[in-house]
Amino acid sequence: MFQLAEEIKGAGSIGISGHIRPDGDCVGSCMALYLYLKKCVGPETEVSVYLEPPADVFADIEGIAEIKKPDETDTPPELFFALDCESSRLGDARRLFDGAGRRINIDHHISNTGCGMVNVVDPGASSTSEVVYRLLDRSRIDAEIAKALYIGIIHDTGVFQYSNTSPETLRIAAELVSHGFDFSALIQKTFYEKTYIQNQIMGRALLESILFLHGRGIVSVVDRKVMDFYNAVPQDLDGIVSLLRNTKGVECAIFMYETDAMVYKVSMRSSDLVDVAKIASYFGGGGHKKAAGCTMSGTFHDVVNNLSLHIERQLEEA
Ligand code: AMP
Ligand code: MN
Ligand code: MN
Repeated sequence: MFQLAEEIKGAGSIGISGHIRPDGDCVGSCMALYLYLKKCVGPETEVSVYLEPPADVFADIEGIAEIKKPDETDTPPELFFALDCESSRLGDARRLFDGAGRRINIDHHISNTGCGMVNVVDPGASSTSEVVYRLLDRSRIDAEIAKALYIGIIHDTGVFQYSNTSPETLRIAAELVSHGFDFSALIQKTFYEKTYIQNQIMGRALLESILFLHGRGIVSVVDRKVMDFYNAVPQDLDGIVSLLRNTKGVECAIFMYETDAMVYKVSMRSSDLVDVAKIASYFGGGGHKKAAGCTMSGTFHDVVNNLSLHIERQLEEA
């Protein structure tokens, strides 16, 4: 049984990080663990959190301004927590993780085989934030820690809509909101609110989407020209793939954007019939049964054809 209090005992320096292009669960779980550990350790222990700059919507999370860039230090901490991913997705923080004396991996991705000396990976959990919550001493959770965990849970469950939401998830959420923060405002601001530009790109992606496999698949792409035209960053594209999946009759939605010439970051969302984690893993990525991603190269048509073959095969077997 993993005991967080035992792990941090005597550590002179502790680092925390999550995956590149951090999403709500990554930011929420990292910040919650950061705030919690800072409360638990003495002045002799330095706790640091390393992440790529989170989206502006997360600005109200306490401590967000204290996030460090992984290249700010050359010295790996004694103890390092990798959250919401395997070490391969830590980006620049991987160096610190690999060099740490003790490495702990906390995650909920089914594709995660465990990259730590200790691995707390629960594919049954809605989010890494839920896994982190279970490791904390409840009496030490305050409103700011609760808020960060709540943000993580709402982002990975689509505000309690997706099937990864369990009775346990809802019990934890109930416990968290009892700390009295304004959860309605938090959901609106961090999940639903979009800038005008974000809405425009979303509208364009829907308008230009293409059905395939007789309407059981849908795909849309945003290329570099469009990204440049709107001066958009990848975070501006959050949520588009979920809207594509809402299309009636669609079993699998694909959204991709060009990160480099002919290199695409691919996001997939599916119904019960298609396991997109399997497909993403085949192409070097990973994720969950109904939400997964990978990076692929080639033309748009190459990428769609390659993915479509796997989707079709799974639909035939279903
Ligand atoms: P996304 O489509 O980027 O929102 O990702 C959907 C889910 O798959 C999230 O849980 C991601 O953490 C996971 N995921 C996305 N890309 C990758 C990847 N390259 N490797 C492993 N997991 C991924
Ligand atoms: Mn994530
Ligand atoms: Mn997650």
